[in-house]
Amino acid sequence: MECQLCQHDARDEKYLCRRCESIMRDQLSDIPTLQQEAKGFLVPGRTGSGAPNSERSIGFNVAAMDYSMAVDILPVLHTYEAKIRRGRNLTPPALLRKHPSIETEVAATAQFHITHLGWSLQQDWIGDFAREVKEIHAKGLAVTKSFIEKTRRIPCPTDQCKGKIAIDIEQILGEVNCLKCRGSWTLYRLLQLAMANPDRRFWLDEEAICLWLNITKRELMKVIDSHKVPKRNGLYDLSTIVRIRNEVASF
Ligand SMILES: [Zn+2]
Ligand SMILES: [Zn+2]
Repeated sequence: MECQLCQHDARDEKYLCRRCESIMRDQLSDIPTLQQEAKGFLVPGRTGSGAPNSERSIGFNVAAMDYSMAVDILPVLHTYEAKIRRGRNLTPPALLRKHPSIETEVAATAQFHITHLGWSLQQDWIGDFAREVKEIHAKGLAVTKSFIEKTRRIPCPTDQCKGKIAIDIEQILGEVNCLKCRGSWTLYRLLQLAMANPDRRFWLDEEAICLWLNITKRELMKVIDSHKVPKRNGLYDLSTIVRIRNEVASF
């Protein structure tokens, strides 16, 4: 059977392949954490853009509010939970004890879905459910910016050091330090090292790249549109952009 989400083979009478199954399992287990973290992003100023009065931060905070209230999470997870309870002759939702908070409610239904995933994978609606879970998960990441937080770390340029250097978006012009080998660099030196390491990728978001290179978003998009810049999860490889910048005088 073909996986309902990708072209891979799905086995054991399941409608999803093993890879999509494990992605879905991870997403279900992340959702309660993302929902709890969303609360920490209600206050303006946590957006990284540093403009508490801008529309963007207002929109951002409304999204964080919705997410922390589980506005989109619970209806979807509960609809499918009810379906599973019917199908497996479990206690119907109406007879369940009410949860004391949204947090415990989200955690309980996410855990329920993980527990029953083996059975759900054999139902023909699993593809639709997986797509909804994916969307909920992506919203949570956008609201809490977790993945950007994680990838604003670049590999330490010191030979043999496997450490990562955290980039503080608020102090982009300061010195950067590796906590592992205690190496310390200026921004300029770090960019030189990035250029000297063509095999290493430095994944950063647009905002961070513009700050690092002191260019506008428009200038950056011009380069991205006209050159092959490696992209991953909405992030771009800084070292490629630095190299292009050195080759093209008009950048
Ligand atoms: Zn698949
Ligand atoms: Zn290091």
